[in-house]
Amino acid sequence: MLQVEMGKLRRAILDSPALVRPGCHLAPMHKVLHHPMFPLTFLLRNVMILETEAHWQSMPPHQKRAALLSIVTERCGVFSEVHEWLDLHRKLPAIKVVPPDAFHALPHDTGYCTHCGGCCEIASGLADFPAGTEIPPAWKRLFADGLGANHRFCAFLWEANGQGLSICSIHAWRPNPCRTFAVDECRNLMEDVDFCTLLDPSRLIETCRRLCVLLNGR
Ligand code: SF4
Repeated sequence: MLQVEMGKLRRAILDSPALVRPGCHLAPMHKVLHHPMFPLTFLLRNVMILETEAHWQSMPPHQKRAALLSIVTERCGVFSEVHEWLDLHRKLPAIKVVPPDAFHALPHDTGYCTHCGGCCEIASGLADFPAGTEIPPAWKRLFADGLGANHRFCAFLWEANGQGLSICSIHAWRPNPCRTFAVDECRNLMEDVDFCTLLDPSRLIETCRRLCVLLNGR
């Protein structure tokens, strides 16, 4: 059901007249939005977080629509850039398969990372990278500054096969703060009620539907 609603959301985004503007090329966006590692579930979670914030709640629908399309366009842009660089360097991440029952379990039940992506739901972070990290310098600044207003997860977070499972696209070069997130922090996150709401498939479906209505203007 979620996959069906996400398909409708992709179409609503690509059909939106507000998306057709200089610098926005629909053919690449179509390809990126349908890429198996594009983080569409995390975009939905991004919106669910925004919906709890006063500034978003006070925005009229046309502003929300414009903000949503900006988020999507910027996210597609950074995804393309990172994908192109990783492909060129033959460093595209492999998709690990995580059993569905492991996803909602606590880390001590399953081994450490369940790929929930919660630790990567940060707008920006301290750009303290290990010595010799060879990614483009601009990406280090991007980690520090974030993608901009209304983005609520890391620029380098990707998703495995639309399953809501996180992949760090720069895992081999990830910054030091990401390396210090340990099992206790993970356990706290997985026990946080607000965070667990973001994982609820029925809430994700409702969010998809709300966004389709927002984009279609009805
Ligand atoms: S760099 Fe990787 S591990 Fe660190 S927050 Fe971003 S996606 Fe997560």
